[in-house]
Amino acid sequence: MTQEILSSTLIDLDGRGYKAYQEIKGRYQFDGFTLIVDRVQGDPFASPSKLRVRVPHAVARFPQKLYDSTSREIALRDYLTRQFGLAAGQKSDRRGSGKSGAIAIATPGQTILARTAVLIDEKGVEVRFVAGLPARGRRILGRQAAQMLCEDIPELVAQTLHYPALNQGELQQQVEAAEDADWLRRELMKRNLVAFVPNGAILPRCSGADDRPLREGAIAFQSPPSLEVEFCCPNQGQIAGMGIPAGITLIVGGGYHGKSTLLRAIEVGVYNHIPGDGREFTVTHPTAVKIRAEDGRSIAGVDISPFINGLPQGRSTDHFSTTNASGSTSQAANIMEALEAGAEVLLIDEDTSATNFTIRDRRMQQLIGKDKEPITPFIDKVRQLYEERAVSSILVMGGSGDYFDVADTVIAMDSFQPRDVTENAKQIARNYPTERLPEGGQDFGPVTPRIPLPDSIDPSRGRRAVKVKVRDADEIAFGMEEIDLAAVEQLVETGQLRAIAAAIVSAKGKSLDGRTALPEILEDVMAEIADRGLDAIAEPYRGDLAQFRRFELAAALNRLRSLRVRPDRDLSTPTLR
Ligand code: ADP
Ligand code: MG
Repeated sequence: MTQEILSSTLIDLDGRGYKAYQEIKGRYQFDGFTLIVDRVQGDPFASPSKLRVRVPHAVARFPQKLYDSTSREIALRDYLTRQFGLAAGQKSDRRGSGKSGAIAIATPGQTILARTAVLIDEKGVEVRFVAGLPARGRRILGRQAAQMLCEDIPELVAQTLHYPALNQGELQQQVEAAEDADWLRRELMKRNLVAFVPNGAILPRCSGADDRPLREGAIAFQSPPSLEVEFCCPNQGQIAGMGIPAGITLIVGGGYHGKSTLLRAIEVGVYNHIPGDGREFTVTHPTAVKIRAEDGRSIAGVDISPFINGLPQGRSTDHFSTTNASGSTSQAANIMEALEAGAEVLLIDEDTSATNFTIRDRRMQQLIGKDKEPITPFIDKVRQLYEERAVSSILVMGGSGDYFDVADTVIAMDSFQPRDVTENAKQIARNYPTERLPEGGQDFGPVTPRIPLPDSIDPSRGRRAVKVKVRDADEIAFGMEEIDLAAVEQLVETGQLRAIAAAIVSAKGKSLDGRTALPEILEDVMAEIADRGLDAIAEPYRGDLAQFRRFELAAALNRLRSLRVRPDRDLSTPTLR
């Protein structure tokens, strides 16, 4: 069918009941692209209709150089998503009731992510978007629909999916920046670093609700000379900045001096950022996981015995479940789950940590004996984690000097500028011994992978076998359950939550079979996505999914309140010394 047929069909539909729109489902050949109507909404107030355009390479004319590596391809797709979204926003006039006339695509924030909104394959570029088919009340506005689909969409395609029409310098910059950032992240690992913050980086944000860079009064980052490292990136060449070595790093300093802002930049350094973000070359080890206290969360069969032991009433902690964890227990579970999923770096901010999990000083040890305190504080475990398991930690710690004893590197934030105060802190530790008794025991203790039981993961609701939905930025409605992800701080886009929900449903039909341990399930899901894209885990032609990491997938599963597990003691790693 052709564009002319679609146009005349729509005009014929004018004035008819909304249901008649179903007729336009199908494929239409336009001049220079194909328009596909995958799903037609039931009424003007329902979620909008799903459409795709496919533009062949011969028409789109993107130089192969812009998508000849995974880094570049993702950055190009991200750029096109943003351009299409901007242009669509300008065309989205209200043309009647409800969502009539709106054209929309995934709306990225500061992060460059692989999303299903724009795809590039051997034939061309595919864009998936939604459109509110116009109506007045429940009557079809056929002329407006014809204008929208047959005039506005061709204009959008010409403006945003034809290479010559785009800002080529800006596009080039984005592709090269993303490639350099991915390169830097790989290079980190070769140099035994866990994070890199370049000189000149702008870390503070507009506000807590606005993730764009602070425009006024932002002080650019400058590495202390002793921690400065240099790289030669494939595109931009030389870049210098602060390298945080593997091991235990403290970020200290007075309140309001920029500690949390630095840690936040490190947390999101697992992702690439758009040029102009200020953090586009701030990169972190890809397995870094933010850890915090999260009282009230549920825990399913986690071996938290390295941190919590000898609970009152002799409750065991090597297979610990609760529907309402305390601050310290939740923080212990968050760490053990991160280790289970393969984290090699932990990021902790005192602002969101449980005090009794973080420290236990000499005086408290004296007053409350070890036999009366189930919690082994992190300070006694952090070196074992590094020495036995090669897991590094970066801690924001303005309130306790006890950690000077266990730190390899101490960075002081002073009026938003870092100073290397490691030697000074070590000297102070020698001059003022804490006289703490070490409570960490012989070794870190076991990490015991769990086998999730598929019957406990039920996406059904009523008569629907699968009913999963993302309501707001941090909650997945999963069947009859709600998964609260507000405390999972390395989730940056709603599309990631949608993709995670789809991945859980998809895994249930595959390796989440009651015999396979969680690490292997995570590995399978990630491998499938790496191989076939996010389409591999979702129903066809969804345009609203964004790439996630294995750690956030695990985090969602771990917060599903119905989850039941069996420990896999065969895979338990008691100690790796
Ligand atoms: P801390 O954790 O040390 O108490 P924060 O990181 O929360 O401090 O920063 C305090 C305030 O200073 C925040 O409003 C933050 O946006 C701002 N800020 C942080 N870094 C910078 C910087 N480099 N330049 C300007 N303002 C900054
Ligand atoms: Mg802070």
